[in-house]
Amino acid sequence: VEVLVVRERASGERRVAMTPETARKLIARGATAWFEPGAGRAAGFPDAAYLEAGAQLADDARLGVADIVLCVQPPETARLSQLKNGAALVGMLQPQADAERAGMIQSRGLQAFPLERLPRTTRAQSMDVLSSQAGMAGYKATLIAAQLAPRFFPMLTTAAGTIRPSRVLVVGAGVAGLQAIATARRLGAQVEGFDVRPETREQIESLGGKFLDLGVSAVGEGGYARPLTDEERAEQQRRLGEHLRLVDVVICTAAVPGRPAPKIVTRAMVQGMRPGSVIVDLAAETGGNCEATVPGETVDVDGVVVDGPVNLASQGAVHASEMYARNLYNFVALFLKDGAVAFDWDDELLAKTRWVAG
Ligand code: NAD
Repeated sequence: VEVLVVRERASGERRVAMTPETARKLIARGATAWFEPGAGRAAGFPDAAYLEAGAQLADDARLGVADIVLCVQPPETARLSQLKNGAALVGMLQPQADAERAGMIQSRGLQAFPLERLPRTTRAQSMDVLSSQAGMAGYKATLIAAQLAPRFFPMLTTAAGTIRPSRVLVVGAGVAGLQAIATARRLGAQVEGFDVRPETREQIESLGGKFLDLGVSAVGEGGYARPLTDEERAEQQRRLGEHLRLVDVVICTAAVPGRPAPKIVTRAMVQGMRPGSVIVDLAAETGGNCEATVPGETVDVDGVVVDGPVNLASQGAVHASEMYARNLYNFVALFLKDGAVAFDWDDELLAKTRWVAG
């Protein structure tokens, strides 16, 4: 079985889907591991490290021979067209986001596994790319906020008097939000968080944050948040708007699966914040939680800085890749056994993650 990791071509993408560590593990399972030249360079893994792990340098033709292809972002359609008929393709593929890509996956008969569709069961945790990458994104979001803020995060007692700690509010306490809270706490800020899933109260408190109760609970399918009703949204906004006047930094991480990011912080709320406040909107890629967010840009709204970073996980490419590559290895291990590929469609992780057109 030939497993190939591609060099990512998307602009700004520094991560890699196989590390020397996971190459070793794949080889130990009886596979031959191949890497495109420079595949891991931006993530801190030079070609020599792959060779040392026993992987082999792939030329362009290898794309058409590999049985299993690993990637972070979906390969361009022209490259998909070169894959071997029936090859397995594993990564964050977003087939539904691009009709041409979906058509190519189908016409090549590829066995595509968009890992963002992986069921989030206990057994799947070690393969959960959304969680591992969200952890890095939440961490970086807090660091960006600290960098943009014209204040200290911690309380300081100095000869020039006492500095009060920054007040940080984290909107949405999923995987990214909790990591943002933990990071802001480590920097010494006073941290609050809120979410529409009530169980997040305990999780926020266990990290040393305070749960901000906005009086709205909205749990939907699979334990995820559901969109708010108009009344719930109005209530959340009324309470939040008042509270934001007291906050120095807002980190937005709220999301509802398969939908555009919920709009939670209105432009009027931003204008009501004190000048010198900072908003970092992790949800920028899916439209933003804040109305003033411009994806990929830092804007100034009456003295409030609003940052809309995209692909934050890529900024922590070394550890993000280490985690991502392990996630992929653990997933591939479901169908790569004794040196052969065998799909057990009774395994719900394979059956539910597999992309079928239609
Ligand atoms: P996500 O990225 O889809 O959403 C981020 C957070 O935003 C969620 O906590 C959500 O509740 C919150 N949110 C949505 N709308 C909101 C609103 N209007 N106001 C405030 N907050 C709002 O979520 P995620 O981080 O990918 O995962 C969170 C969920 O998935 C949790 O239930 C988590 O326990 C579960 N999960 C389970 C596993 C597992 O292995 N069992 C693994 C990962 C995640």
